[in-house]
Amino acid sequence: MAGVGRTGGLPAVRPDLTALVGYHSAQVEVDVRLNTNESPMPPPAAWQEELAGAVARIDFHRYPDREATALRQALADSHGVGVEEVFCANGSNEVLQCLLLAYGGPGRTVALFEPTYTLHGHIARITGTDVAVGPRREDFALDLDVVAGVVAASDPVLTFLCSPNNPTGRADSPAEIAAVADQVPGLLVVDEAYGQFAPSSALGLRAADPGGTRHVVVVRTFSKTWSMAGARLGYLVADPEVVAACELVALPYHLDVVTQLAGLLALGYTDEMNERVATIAEERGRIAAAFADLPVESWPSDANFLLFRPVEREAVTVWSDLVSAGVLVRDCSTWPGLTGCLRVTVGLPEENDRFLAALTESLR
Ligand SMILES: *Cc1c(COP(=O)(O)O)cnc(C)c1O
Repeated sequence: MAGVGRTGGLPAVRPDLTALVGYHSAQVEVDVRLNTNESPMPPPAAWQEELAGAVARIDFHRYPDREATALRQALADSHGVGVEEVFCANGSNEVLQCLLLAYGGPGRTVALFEPTYTLHGHIARITGTDVAVGPRREDFALDLDVVAGVVAASDPVLTFLCSPNNPTGRADSPAEIAAVADQVPGLLVVDEAYGQFAPSSALGLRAADPGGTRHVVVVRTFSKTWSMAGARLGYLVADPEVVAACELVALPYHLDVVTQLAGLLALGYTDEMNERVATIAEERGRIAAAFADLPVESWPSDANFLLFRPVEREAVTVWSDLVSAGVLVRDCSTWPGLTGCLRVTVGLPEENDRFLAALTESLR
């Protein structure tokens, strides 16, 4: 093969991949893990029992339903859309990967606005797609002039928003999202991994103006609010043409039968999910109030995490103090636009107490 260098007898990986650093959250053995925005609560016991019963009846020698029709229909019903507007995959990260495989690639560009979810740019680069980056404002809100400039300069096939935005916490307003939707030449992908915590959704924008928002794609996941990070299930709601494009690039039978069942059964527990969201939102308020009395800068959150910046002490020092006290948070202090910042996931009340006590001690 021309152009393939050899290292120790094996071919070198694609040269454009060598610059990518893998996406990993440091995992340290601690009592209180508040670093990856998971739900601190397991799914309802009744769901686990129902799933166990259903798994016992699976014909494991048969391939799963390739189209995941029952799951997609149930999701479609829950959002008041058609089954042909829903695509499911192994976590919303695989949904994003499918979008990028279908629409990205060499010679194409995506646009995004930092600080935001690192994986949008990371998965884009893996698929050979160029990434055009613009900054968010100092308060992490979108700057619509910056959006206009980046979009005009790069002609993106996909523009990513993350709302509520990870790791900064705020949701973009419906007006802001609509304004971006009006500007972009390609698809607008709104990652709503934390959508259930937010006051509004781009699903509302799609519903209000179906003709004008054919290019708006909403991505959701079961990993956060649904307490199912271990199951790997995400989906998008979009125009049927976008769904068909994703199906074109997804591997055959990519979504296994257990995952399909897990998601389908979970949708019967919406009330329990909403209760969990309410509990976490209340705890989030409690942490935010405690921040107000500490020497930290912090930002309002519409999600299950809070971004904060110690003002009198180095972020890494505070991070290590917390680890020593058995509490793990995310160190974002070297991420673009987030100098000195840490991110804490809202945990159980007693976990949040431990976090606040350890933080207070560290900042004393
Ligand atoms: C956690 C998170 C996801 C979830 O990815 P999964 O693959 O569904 O677990 C997606 N987008 C954002 C912004 C997230 O924070």
